[in-house]
Amino acid sequence: MQNFENFYSKFSTFLKDFNYKNSSQKEGVLKILYINDDHLSAAEIQERFHQEFKENISLTAIYQFLNFLEEIGLAISFEESGIKKFELNLNSHHDHLICTKCCKIVSFYDETIENRQDIICENKKFKIEGHTMILYGICKECQK
Ligand SMILES: [Zn+2]
Ligand SMILES: [Zn+2]
Repeated sequence: MQNFENFYSKFSTFLKDFNYKNSSQKEGVLKILYINDDHLSAAEIQERFHQEFKENISLTAIYQFLNFLEEIGLAISFEESGIKKFELNLNSHHDHLICTKCCKIVSFYDETIENRQDIICENKKFKIEGHTMILYGICKECQK
């Protein structure tokens, strides 16, 4: 597994692409998810955050960030005995649509697009390390 600093520097660039404000609290939440292989509830994250950084973070702040991570496909959540648990989703890749009116983010994955990118890089003898694709537009609800 890559180390957290590497992961985090990539993630910060990613946040900028989404115009999402970064903070040391977000970094902390992300680190807790990163070092715990286990899936955690927001309350467990809050507790570990306190243990690790000797600092308090509100549940609302945790939820907001977790929901954002989930929207962009970087975290997944599931219910475990009625409690919502989260874990990082580092292995699957997603691209995104962003509505410029309501800022909703929709993730998608398209095999053809992914394959074309590989072919382009191969043709240009370019060693690809990653990519971010964001399509901007107006979502279905906002078109009404
Ligand atoms: Zn992609
Ligand atoms: Zn919209």
